Amino acid sequence: MINTKIPLSEISNVLKRGNKIVIYPHVNVDADGVGSAVGLCLALRQLGKTSYVFIDEKIPENLEFLTQDCVTDQADVVCNADINVCVDCSDIKRLGARKDAFKTAGTSVCIDHHATEVPFCDFNHIDKHAAATGELIFALINHMGIEEDATIGSSLYAAICSDTGNFRYSNTTKLTHEIVSGLFDWGISPDEISILLFESNRIERLMLESLAISGVVMFCGGRLAMTCVTQEMLEQTGAYMDEADQIVSILRGIQGVEIAALLKEEIDGRVKVSLRSKNFVDVSKIAQSMGGGGHKRAAGVAMRASIEEAFEKMSKILVDAIDKSE
Ligand code: 5GP
Ligand code: MN
Repeated sequence: MINTKIPLSEISNVLKRGNKIVIYPHVNVDADGVGSAVGLCLALRQLGKTSYVFIDEKIPENLEFLTQDCVTDQADVVCNADINVCVDCSDIKRLGARKDAFKTAGTSVCIDHHATEVPFCDFNHIDKHAAATGELIFALINHMGIEEDATIGSSLYAAICSDTGNFRYSNTTKLTHEIVSGLFDWGISPDEISILLFESNRIERLMLESLAISGVVMFCGGRLAMTCVTQEMLEQTGAYMDEADQIVSILRGIQGVEIAALLKEEIDGRVKVSLRSKNFVDVSKIAQSMGGGGHKRAAGVAMRASIEEAFEKMSKILVDAIDKSE
């Protein structure tokens, strides 16, 4: 069995032996993925390494400030690395089209916090109790002995505050606050980061949220809330699909809701399902049983079906999960 608990001190030593190190966050990149990747990249550069973050998709506008000059989509820039590191991802499927490039380095490292791990690297550190991969990168770069730096600190702060829902979700721990307290000493400005992450939305996003929320369907006497975002809704509002990512949290915020689900009709014929739970249902198990994964209270899966078929199938599965949980 693969050891998924290689100490971060050992991973620090592995990274120190490399010269060119490329970092890969998961597809549909989020603030934890890009913040953790860029934080690690800047730390490695501080040690004199050649380092890049490889992302081959459009980065959501509210995350662009996190990219610094670390992120590239150029395969010829990231080739011939000594070490490839995947962050916030422990399932090779979640590297998408970059998975072949990932395999080309002599050494591979994984730093992740997903509960539904499928480890595939030479050195894996997967801690499902960490609230964000950003917490693990904080510990790792402390082992590397880097100097405190406000830009690195801000990347990690964005990662942590995003994956904890601004320190509200059940994954938030005493350690989360201790790490963030440490980041204050690095010179971060949490209010500026929060404005960039959460209060810089386009009006099109709000229109999409409004449309999706007005189409919410409630099941199980109000314990399950579901809605969709279709390509037609994007055209109607002028919003991008990545601007739909908060809708599922808004549904979970409804009084009495235990499970919230958002179904997104992608252009490639798949439906991406985002699942959230509030108190007791483990949605990572539901997602995993369908080929996806995630965490107890936030998980996802992609289905090959029309939006109508996916909605029908998903509603049955979720109604069943709620019924069984009682
Ligand atoms: P979201 O709903 O925001 O896309 O994802 C919620 C959580 O589930 C995130 O931690 C994300 O990484 C994970 N997740 C989403 N979709 C998938 C999937 O298809 N496979 C796996 N393994 N994890 C997923
Ligand atoms: Mn994460």
